[in-house]
Amino acid sequence: LNNRQPILITGGAGFIGSNFIRYYLGRREDVHVVNLDKLTYAANLEGLSELEDKENYSFIKGDICDADLVSSIFEEYGIASVIHFAAESHVDNSIERPADFIKTNIEGTFTLLQVAKHHWLERQSGVSSDRRNRFHHISTDEVYGSLGAEGSFDETYPYAPNSPYSASKAAADFLVRSYHHTYGLNTVISNCSNNYGPHQHGEKLIPTIIRKALAEEPIPIYGDGKNVRDWLYVEDHCRALELVFEKGKSGETYAVGGNCEKTNLELAKNICSILDKKVPRNEGRYADLITFVKDRPGHDFRYAINSSKIKGALGWRPKEDLRSGLERTIDHYLEKYITKA
Ligand code: NAD
Repeated sequence: LNNRQPILITGGAGFIGSNFIRYYLGRREDVHVVNLDKLTYAANLEGLSELEDKENYSFIKGDICDADLVSSIFEEYGIASVIHFAAESHVDNSIERPADFIKTNIEGTFTLLQVAKHHWLERQSGVSSDRRNRFHHISTDEVYGSLGAEGSFDETYPYAPNSPYSASKAAADFLVRSYHHTYGLNTVISNCSNNYGPHQHGEKLIPTIIRKALAEEPIPIYGDGKNVRDWLYVEDHCRALELVFEKGKSGETYAVGGNCEKTNLELAKNICSILDKKVPRNEGRYADLITFVKDRPGHDFRYAINSSKIKGALGWRPKEDLRSGLERTIDHYLEKYITKA
């Protein structure tokens, strides 16, 4: 490993994980990333192809629930830190098939914690004096439940998850918390809002809007389109993750939001108006395709994050405004969908 710090990144073939690995390896020469990913339907190795030949990057196909595998990775690479992205992440799927969410999000996180505890605290292998053994767990603002028209979530907000997805993430957060308080594991948790940007799976809201619009099909919007989400550009999130991982205080959690609240309808209209300029329709405008569909059961009304803590403690600010972030995202999908069409 040429004296590089070996970091296990789980779920690194997913949307945020793959963006983070590219971002982080572009900035750090002194780390070796071991990407452990099961390659579920949600994974996409395309975004990582440029890293294949790098000597400070290894990919392992496997399941975070497989304790023997995870342990052998710790052993072989002397894993010094973990950044844990791997999850079943789509709320609609959690309503249809919650068992996968319980398995990966709860049992998988438990497995990683157990192995980390064993290697770092019990056997003290893989520990070098100048490096802290850090476990960074990536979570969501959905653990806090739903807001009314006013207020926002911060790190002290009580947990009230409403979907099997958010409940499984909440359980994982609590396990991570308990490993810090009970065993002294060096943990940090970050809870972020909705990410958007290149390489997100086509099932999620923004890629769906773009794909349907380009196919001239109805653009489905749940309920009356008034549900509010806070949008965080994935690169801004990556900068926050780097700060939390490297400088966050052990045992703490950090809420990360884009300071960009939009109703789903506003968001769809924004995307349609950018598409109108980039790929004009023959007749009418893309917004004409917006169609309201039956609401998702248990659909949280509003999420909003107060990011004062990470701003004050670690100096983070989101840089991308929604318009430019959407332009960049749309350019990525135009290349993907139009080139492949
Ligand atoms: P994603 O669905 O795009 O990627 C998840 C990755 O995890 C996939 O590559 C998948 O193959 C892998 N994976 C799933 N089960 C696995 C298992 N058992 N073992 C190993 N790998 C497995 O997810 P994402 O959008 O990149 O989200 C990453 C993390 O961030 C998740 O923990 C998610 O809960 C959290 N998060 C995401 C968002 C968002 O807007 N995307 C918002 C808040 C929090």
